Amino acid sequence: MLYLPFMSIFSDYLDSQQFCFLVEFIASSKKSQIQSAHLAGFPVIAAIADRVHSDEDLSPLQLAAELSENIEKMLHFSGKDRDIKDLNAFLQKAWQEKYLNILMLSGDKLKKHRFGNKQNALLRTRYLESVNAVTAAKATHSEFNIGVAFNPFKYADAEKSAQYFKLEKKIKAGADYIITQLGYDLDALQQAKDFLKEHQYTTPILACVMPLTYRRAKFMLDNKVAGVVITSHMLKILQQEYRLDPGFAEKMVYERAALQIYIAKHLGYAGIHLSACHQADQQQKLILALDKFRCLTLNQCLKLWEELWQIQQGDELKYPVLQPVEASSGQIAKYKSMHAMHDLFFSSKIAKGVGGLVFNSKLWNKPKVADALLKTEFISKHRVVGCESCGQCRLGETLYICPETCPKGLANGPCGGTTLDRCEFGDRECIHSVKARLAKQLDETKMLRFEIIPTVPIEVRQTSSWKNWFSNE
Ligand code: SF4
Repeated sequence: MLYLPFMSIFSDYLDSQQFCFLVEFIASSKKSQIQSAHLAGFPVIAAIADRVHSDEDLSPLQLAAELSENIEKMLHFSGKDRDIKDLNAFLQKAWQEKYLNILMLSGDKLKKHRFGNKQNALLRTRYLESVNAVTAAKATHSEFNIGVAFNPFKYADAEKSAQYFKLEKKIKAGADYIITQLGYDLDALQQAKDFLKEHQYTTPILACVMPLTYRRAKFMLDNKVAGVVITSHMLKILQQEYRLDPGFAEKMVYERAALQIYIAKHLGYAGIHLSACHQADQQQKLILALDKFRCLTLNQCLKLWEELWQIQQGDELKYPVLQPVEASSGQIAKYKSMHAMHDLFFSSKIAKGVGGLVFNSKLWNKPKVADALLKTEFISKHRVVGCESCGQCRLGETLYICPETCPKGLANGPCGGTTLDRCEFGDRECIHSVKARLAKQLDETKMLRFEIIPTVPIEVRQTSSWKNWFSNE
């Protein structure tokens, strides 16, 4: 089938419930062309990853141009080290080149992440949030077929809630489909489907599957690949098989991948985002396994899956679930006092009237006065909440936890890279877990589920949010 320009065939697949494969390409795999627009009878779309191999990878737009014209493309756009202007330029180019399918990602940690410093927070690497990227893309051309990532493989209560809260924002922003991050816990895949059904979301969801070899599992563990759960049981099985007979181990790898694909299909997933299977020989091995299990029922697939992974307890492919933690009394007291102050000094009618009068004066435009105001705001807020003078204070929408204390500066919710409430950067608890915990205790979860917080334009940073708040009123 020829790819007809300016229509999304992928979107048609989703509408018609045609199970399909998004086969992932990364920059280092550009020499291996996709051979066929079908895999084991299922339609294939080339999914072009964005800076997975290195920070300097070819852009998905360049890579896509090098792949066969006969296959529909889906481009990843990762927000790492990008501003809204970069997204707009990308969207314009994608539209001109007639690419409609885009997967928006906040992105994992930039390999050369810059932390900035107190003197100049502008030097810090920024991450454009996927929620804001979806909003911008849909506002640009509603014909864009926009996807979002979602990580259901979380084993701490707050961390898991934070993922689901953010998923709802992504759907509200206009996501056309959801793709899970990589994971092997089938209960988590089932829970994601149950969640969508329970909340009456009709957004199609696809599962990410990677044929998991011993080397890949070890690499991901050694390199602490963010958000991917590889348990010691999994590594042990893969290692045993590999040591016993590499040929047999490889057969098991593709049989497990094929079973996971059929299980996802039986669970009602719309398709698969297939990683590390772009080469013809890899696909041949997967096709063999897919053909072998084609006629199996869900229960038969599950039984075989358990056998191949040697599952006995049922929790071998998950991290041990952490006991739920309550927000501390100090955190609750801080929230309450800041909320009262916010109401009094910023939200009340009197505050708005007085603030409007004071801050609309031209005096504040004088560089020395503006600088003094900025310093005063920074000194009064940095110690209390970690303020970095972003110029667009979002404390009122983040339960008074400053989004700049997330190393990626995410305001709308977590990335997928946390592990048991710990940040991908490894040096702190994820602030979005803290927020989720607080929100549940204070009955404020609606804010984290539905309040889309706009991105901060670069030019607004290092200006006073007090002045901006009142002069925008
Ligand atoms: S959100 Fe508020 S507290 Fe945080 S950096 Fe911006 S102005 Fe400062």
